[in-house]
Amino acid sequence: MQNIKHIFFDLDNTLWDHRKNAKLTLIKLFAKYDCANKYQLGFEEFHVQYDIINEEMWAKMRDEKIDKAYLRKHRFYDTFLKFGIDDFELSQNFENQFLDDIVEFNELVDGSLEILDYLTAKEYKLHIITNGFEEVSYRKIEGSGMKNYFETVTSADSLNIRKPNPKIFEHALQIANATKEESILIGDDWIADVLGAKNFGLDVIFFDVFNDQPALTEIKRVEKLVEIEMFL
Ligand SMILES: [Mg+2]
Repeated sequence: MQNIKHIFFDLDNTLWDHRKNAKLTLIKLFAKYDCANKYQLGFEEFHVQYDIINEEMWAKMRDEKIDKAYLRKHRFYDTFLKFGIDDFELSQNFENQFLDDIVEFNELVDGSLEILDYLTAKEYKLHIITNGFEEVSYRKIEGSGMKNYFETVTSADSLNIRKPNPKIFEHALQIANATKEESILIGDDWIADVLGAKNFGLDVIFFDVFNDQPALTEIKRVEKLVEIEMFL
């Protein structure tokens, strides 16, 4: 694509493997608080339940139905409650240590560094727009060795305006000194990234890890990061 100069990446589960790193963090916390013995709870069933609740709450926060404080109070509390464990202190210990510990793990999505090298060699200017928590976003980028690839990082959380709100795309383009016509976004969230970018008037590549939208042919779609090379 000849006119494209700026590429805006989503961070979590597009480049930084949040699912994998979160699971590794939870394994550690689950063992630390001896949850298996204390509550006769299996890690896998806990993790499945947590994933469901966490994903639901992130969607609600994206849709501006709940705020960050609510999510941080409830995601672990509600998960434990599903197993009849009503312990607010335990849930807050999990919440606080989760954010501290997750940045110790820096698994990247397959092909992340390869595609960043490829795009850098082609002299695209690379940027991040993330909805993730401000407390950890910069540490994720730095800890995983990706910092030097990016000219700008927009933390939607720090501005309290999250994708798909068009204001966050406007802000990111502004600090990147980029126009819509010369920019494209790459992300894995259908609503926040794909519909958000489209509504704002920005071209987009959907990183469709779970093969969610196979019938949609009019959008640019990849299932592996390396396939971005087809478009850029
Ligand atoms: Mg994402």
